[in-house]
Amino acid sequence: MRYEQKADLQDSNKARMYEEKKKQMSSEKIDLKNKCVHCKQDTSYGSGKFVNRYPVFGLDPDGSGVEYDGYCCDDCEQEWENENE
Ligand SMILES: [Zn+2]
Repeated sequence: MRYEQKADLQDSNKARMYEEKKKQMSSEKIDLKNKCVHCKQDTSYGSGKFVNRYPVFGLDPDGSGVEYDGYCCDDCEQEWENENE
């Protein structure tokens, strides 16, 4: 009985490691094109957020394995700077 429980535990550990590995390998990439990777707002010309935007590649903002390509708008840049002063 005790042995079986231990085996169960090892199996679930193994399953968890496998899930982790699968997550890393199948990291998604989302192309937001003209959208800001942080606030998801349009930064294209005429949107009011075109000025001072800069391109961002492969940003994983929450560590979920999903990477975003897009832009960082000036609003989010300012916010980040304020937070990190
Ligand atoms: Zn933004």
